[in-house]
Amino acid sequence: MKGKMKAQLFYGPEDVRYENINIPEIGDDEALVKIKSALTCGSDLKTYRRGHPTMIKEASVFGHEWAGDIVEIGSDVDNFKVGDRIVAVNSVPCYECYYCKLERYSLCENLIYNNGAYAEYIKIPGKILKKNTYIIPDKIDYREAALLEPLACVAHGIEESNIKTDDMVVINGAGPIGLMFIALARLKGALVISVDLSDERLEYAKDFGADYTINASKESDQVAAVKELTEDKKGVDVAVDATGIPEVWEMTILMGRKGATINLFGGCVSGTSVNIDTQLLHYSELTIKGVYHHTPYYVKKAFDLITSRQIDTVKFITADMPLEKLVSALELMGQQKGIKYNITT
Ligand SMILES: [Zn+2]
Ligand SMILES: [Zn+2]
Repeated sequence: MKGKMKAQLFYGPEDVRYENINIPEIGDDEALVKIKSALTCGSDLKTYRRGHPTMIKEASVFGHEWAGDIVEIGSDVDNFKVGDRIVAVNSVPCYECYYCKLERYSLCENLIYNNGAYAEYIKIPGKILKKNTYIIPDKIDYREAALLEPLACVAHGIEESNIKTDDMVVINGAGPIGLMFIALARLKGALVISVDLSDERLEYAKDFGADYTINASKESDQVAAVKELTEDKKGVDVAVDATGIPEVWEMTILMGRKGATINLFGGCVSGTSVNIDTQLLHYSELTIKGVYHHTPYYVKKAFDLITSRQIDTVKFITADMPLEKLVSALELMGQQKGIKYNITT
């Protein structure tokens, strides 16, 4: 399809411009999609504020959580057609590298990325169409389906957290990802403690099923406050970080009981490090792990969670905003107002 489209372009930190650019041209194994919903994400906010390593070119399209309609399709694509309502995630593993052969797909050395949801149209690479794209059932809205990517990351994080029924789980951070952790931990039958600095976010946390909330700004010792809620103040069975703040990583480790699983999920700024008490790690037999991104298996799991309505997708979307107002939506997220914004064209 030839012609121009509106898009929000990232030029550099705090420099995003609303411009007219060419509609992407597609190859034989690709598809062109008219975006119907694009959701704001914490990582877009990070990109907006401090740039992103994968966006080195001047003027990049960005935004990666979306759903829309196929308007043009390459001659080699046989699993989709023009008119299909689809949702896809932002990457696909190569299936060829060392880590893909180990089936550690989130560690793929050649992940193929796709950005550009903050625009009228987006091109879908062939490999993503083959492995990480789904047709949206009629009963599901575009904006609900657009939660696929973050939910796939969290489904991955939850599975790696080793949660059992009736476990006490603390989730540090009640942003969009922390709230998804709360919803999925509840589905696993856990009791959930949510810790955040904002009362507004802690209200969301309760709404998503948190059994206890702690406002960290009102506690002199948030580790003690969490332990206070556990049997004999032992600490929690599972502790998750969804903040990406090194100091919170350190506290997350201290919140676990002996034998706890500690999932340090939130990515921190590069170059940072944390201190771990060697005696604690050794004698308490802690399992401390990092979990990153998603794999096609968890994308499918997340798609099933959305379409079976096991989680209340609509609650994650605070308001609709037109594409030209993207920066305002990101600023609102930066002020911790609302959860996600649905950007529409
Ligand atoms: Zn995202
Ligand atoms: Zn690979």
